[in-house]
Amino acid sequence: MTEQPARHTVDTITSDALDALYEMLDAAQQTELARQLATAERAFCAAHLRATRLGSTVSRMQRAQASTILQARRWAARARTAEAALGQVRNLHSPSSFPNPDAPGDITYCVGCEYATGAHPCNTLAALDDPKEPTL
Ligand SMILES: [Zn+2]
Repeated sequence: MTEQPARHTVDTITSDALDALYEMLDAAQQTELARQLATAERAFCAAHLRATRLGSTVSRMQRAQASTILQARRWAARARTAEAALGQVRNLHSPSSFPNPDAPGDITYCVGCEYATGAHPCNTLAALDDPKEPTL
């Protein structure tokens, strides 16, 4: 068991003993400050590392997002082009009619297919109106 140092009172403490107490207090404060500083430095390094990793992740996600947006715009442009082409096909396969020589009324036919099918909507328009899943 270690022996406790003598406790001083205001009436018993000497100037040397008071200096010694202040030196001990200063050393203790320096030790505590150094410990807190080391703890803060470790926390700062860990936070800096996490921030760096998060920054890298954010950059990667932003690049992926930009790529996805670009791809979506390309697909949207392709869809608009395809819709325009389908509209042109629909316009080419418009109906027309002429009087039926064998019966009352008119015979309606597809201008694009001319007399090939003899009906409107023709097979082309029927295919456009009833699309099937693509087979790869
Ligand atoms: Zn047609």
